[in-house]
Amino acid sequence: MTLNRRTTLQTLFALTLASSFLLGGCRKVEELNEAVTMKLDPSLNRAEKSLLRQDVLRLMRYELGGTPGRWFAPVFGGNSGAHALRFLDARVNYLLSERVKFDSRLKLLSSGFFGEEREVVTMAQNVGTVVYFVAAIDQIQNNLPRPRVGFQIGNSKIPVQGPRIGIIQLGAGYSPDRDTPTRIGTLIHEARHSDCSRRPSNAEFQQLINGNTAAVGFCGNLHGICPAGHAFAGYAACDDHAWGSYAVEGVFQSEVARRCISCTERERQSAAMSAADSFSRVRRLDALLAGTLGAPVMTTFDQNLTADMKKLLKRLRKERMAEGKNAEAEVEASAEEL
Ligand SMILES: [Zn+2]
Repeated sequence: MTLNRRTTLQTLFALTLASSFLLGGCRKVEELNEAVTMKLDPSLNRAEKSLLRQDVLRLMRYELGGTPGRWFAPVFGGNSGAHALRFLDARVNYLLSERVKFDSRLKLLSSGFFGEEREVVTMAQNVGTVVYFVAAIDQIQNNLPRPRVGFQIGNSKIPVQGPRIGIIQLGAGYSPDRDTPTRIGTLIHEARHSDCSRRPSNAEFQQLINGNTAAVGFCGNLHGICPAGHAFAGYAACDDHAWGSYAVEGVFQSEVARRCISCTERERQSAAMSAADSFSRVRRLDALLAGTLGAPVMTTFDQNLTADMKKLLKRLRKERMAEGKNAEAEVEASAEEL
């Protein structure tokens, strides 16, 4: 289905949200592994959890050799696979199953936002960023002193101060049928949606409401409309500003394709194909890679959220130890409930 983007955004932003947005319920949140702060929602079944754990472990073991390309370190903070993992972990805090049902307004808004409805299947979506925009616009439109939309994760209520809340919902496409690099690249892509170099002004939020995503390209890296002649012409599936999610995914995949020593030939080929697809969605790619558009800004205004999320994880671990529960039994239980 093709949505008229402008109308959809205008209509949805006109709606107000009356209640908090809850996640996690009373069931326990799990850690992904000991090396990262990413957390797994109880809505994920055993197969999804094990696929995510396997993919993150694979990324941890990516060994990149050879001469690094120009942009890997400016984007990921260093030239190793470990740097890509750290990039991911700072921006992805919480992973949800595709079966989590959102408020229908959020659900509709998110598909209009990132344009992933054009895809045959959705790989994943950064719902945290969508909720940040919904919360901020709701606050502005209703003259509220603070956002009234928040996430409840486990027993903790988290205010949505910015996209770094890092909540990623897997889509039907995030499955073992895909190559590992495709799934890892998807996580890297979604992670970039968690960056917002500064809080948009009220006037910029208003431009977004009117359908101008490029006006806030620096926040959340929202996709722009692909130009005429592009395979995705007319759909919001391209980067219309420098260093968006597709550019970052392309840099990652092209380096994996070129210099991943620990990857199989098939993995490198898959990464090369993903890189080509990602880069084909970047406007002014040559200028970007030549450095004419400047270096990527990788900071975010809501940096403190990462620290808050780390604190939350510590508390979750403490709670778990105190209860003395067997994590394995819990995974079984949550799988049975689904
Ligand atoms: Zn995206």
